[in-house]
Amino acid sequence: MKNKNTAERIYTPHQLSQLNEHDCIQLPIKFIHDLAQADSLQSLLDKIAFWISRVFQAERTSITLYDQQDFLRLYSISGNQAIPLNFQMPIQNTFVGRVFSTATLRICDDVAQFEELDCQMLAQHGMGSCMDAPLIHNEQCFGTLNVADRASFNYTEHQAILLQCLANWIALNIKLHLQIQDMQKLTATDELTGTFNRRSFIQECNQSMLLFFNAQAPFSIGVLDIDHFKTLNDFYGHQAGDYVLKRMTENIQAFLGEQDFLARIGGEEFAIILPTRSKEAVKLFKQIRAAIEAMKLPYQEEVICFTVSIGVAEAQSADSNAEAVFKRADKALYQAKQAGRNRVHLEHPAHSS
Ligand code: GH3
Ligand code: MG
Ligand code: MG
Repeated sequence: MKNKNTAERIYTPHQLSQLNEHDCIQLPIKFIHDLAQADSLQSLLDKIAFWISRVFQAERTSITLYDQQDFLRLYSISGNQAIPLNFQMPIQNTFVGRVFSTATLRICDDVAQFEELDCQMLAQHGMGSCMDAPLIHNEQCFGTLNVADRASFNYTEHQAILLQCLANWIALNIKLHLQIQDMQKLTATDELTGTFNRRSFIQECNQSMLLFFNAQAPFSIGVLDIDHFKTLNDFYGHQAGDYVLKRMTENIQAFLGEQDFLARIGGEEFAIILPTRSKEAVKLFKQIRAAIEAMKLPYQEEVICFTVSIGVAEAQSADSNAEAVFKRADKALYQAKQAGRNRVHLEHPAHSS
């Protein structure tokens, strides 16, 4: 089936901004209120999808944001689930992809006549027409706001003007939340290794301690420090040291599950929180230690080998706060170093390997 031009209408931002100064739009007060109240990007998008559905009496409203490389991702839906949440929509060969890449509002008057993936999915779930508007900020399109209806030939030019007008207003709100999210990520992560940083570690520790006090949920902390890292830096150079830090982090991460938490808390010092008793924690840390010892890192003409020492402590009812657990793990690390390095040492009861 070929796209039939008669079933598609395109509106440039210029066409849609030809507003008369007497033109008005009516919006529910609660819509405005909800936008101002949204405390996260997801809640903002959900509120937008909900209210746009109401305003347009749309069978389905969705919001896509540019995800990575060649995809848009569906971040929020209200109504018909023709295209599910989190679906990665290719920008190539989709109707919404064309709206995104050309930054123009488009109306598809009869989705059944279009071969593109999203039109097909909509048609299969009973939709007849759709209207997608680009979300633009600073002349850059970063997503789309879409409505769809059971009826074909449902949308008027007046509605196109209204949707684009709302999309422009909403775009700024979304952009602000995206920037806040980026900033939060930046303040929580370590630039070199991409793991969490010390600040996040302290927050996570406190959270684990709360769970321990309130729900008797056990947890253990491991403090891992590279042995003789200064010598490694001196011998191979600082860049090689950075490379070691990155590759070691990847290696450790492969041993950890979703509930486990890894942070870089100092130069060559890492902390790992495991929601387990010390017996299981020590078992895992011994595997990590052995895996790091076995690493043979090709670097330029050389092969770098190195070891780590790990101090472990489990939260006890005598610990008054998370810092107390961390201090015991740190003390165990010191003992592991004293005992000759390249080992895991558990603080109380004394145990080393
Ligand atoms: P030990 O076995 O007792 O832990 O000895 P060490 O040499 O590892 O410990 P020391 O504290 O003496 O030295 C740590 C070194 O880590 C010194 C510093 O140059 C290096 N370092 C800290 N941060 C970074 C970093 O981001 N990149 C690189 N390449 N090196 C770093
Ligand atoms: Mg060290
Ligand atoms: Mg150190």
